[in-house]
Amino acid sequence: MSFLSKKSVLEELAKAKASKTKQWRDSLPTWCPGCGHFTGLYGLYEAAETLKISTKDFVVVSGIGCSGRFPFFIKGFGLHGLHGRAIPIATGIKVANPDLTVVVVGGDGDGVGIGGGHFPHAARSNFNLTYILLDNSIYGLTKGQISPTSPMGMKSGTSPYGNIARPLNPTTLALAYGATFVARTFSRERDMVSELITKAIQHKGFSFIHDLSPCVVFNKDVTYSSWHDVTAEISVEHDFMDRSRAMILADSTKPIYKGLFFREEIPSFDDHVQKFKDGLNQPA
Ligand code: SF4
Ligand code: MG
Repeated sequence: MSFLSKKSVLEELAKAKASKTKQWRDSLPTWCPGCGHFTGLYGLYEAAETLKISTKDFVVVSGIGCSGRFPFFIKGFGLHGLHGRAIPIATGIKVANPDLTVVVVGGDGDGVGIGGGHFPHAARSNFNLTYILLDNSIYGLTKGQISPTSPMGMKSGTSPYGNIARPLNPTTLALAYGATFVARTFSRERDMVSELITKAIQHKGFSFIHDLSPCVVFNKDVTYSSWHDVTAEISVEHDFMDRSRAMILADSTKPIYKGLFFREEIPSFDDHVQKFKDGLNQPA
């Protein structure tokens, strides 16, 4: 199946026109036809529609990269921030107004490269945010340089002899950092992406989605078919409250598992802040 065929593009347009999520659409996405990010955007439209979030209570924050354009394509408030700085901006928004639904969207370079120092602290603090990392294993906006998730040996403009560093795995990082909801999706499977983004937003605490989202223009090594050949769904018998087992599954490369790895209900950062506020409001 070609993701660039005229037929598949027309089918997608027909689905979009018939979709119940019309009211969430803003400017027309400017990504290349076939880009994996369309599925993540659709998933976010569907989640917002399913959860009946009001546009006035919805904020999407992004960093820099092709994924950084997300806030332009969806209704609600949005902020296209600095490279790697979407998470601290989002935590500030959430602390200022905990009633907002705040979603952070970023790429692999933005999230575990340039902004890699922010991810662990938002996760361990259990900020009530949803973080969607669209991983295409390349810097796409700048036309194809290796990123922190590119496989070893991958050639690019900045690695003409092949990448000599081992790739990072954003799913295992999220688990190690203490995220309380961790899932991996593949942008070829729209229903799973929509369902898990919806659950991630519903989760009270730091929820993380690692979406495998190919760049069809600049990455010829990591593609829809290369991922399709090695991905497999997590068994329904997996106990998603078992972080150690989740880590073993997330670390596997043959197959690369997708689905919900881990979920834990503990007080969020907002809950702790509210407790302090309530205490401060008590009469002396
Ligand atoms: Fe998507 Fe790659 Fe095009 Fe960017 S360059 S919009 S990541 S296909
Ligand atoms: Mg990228």
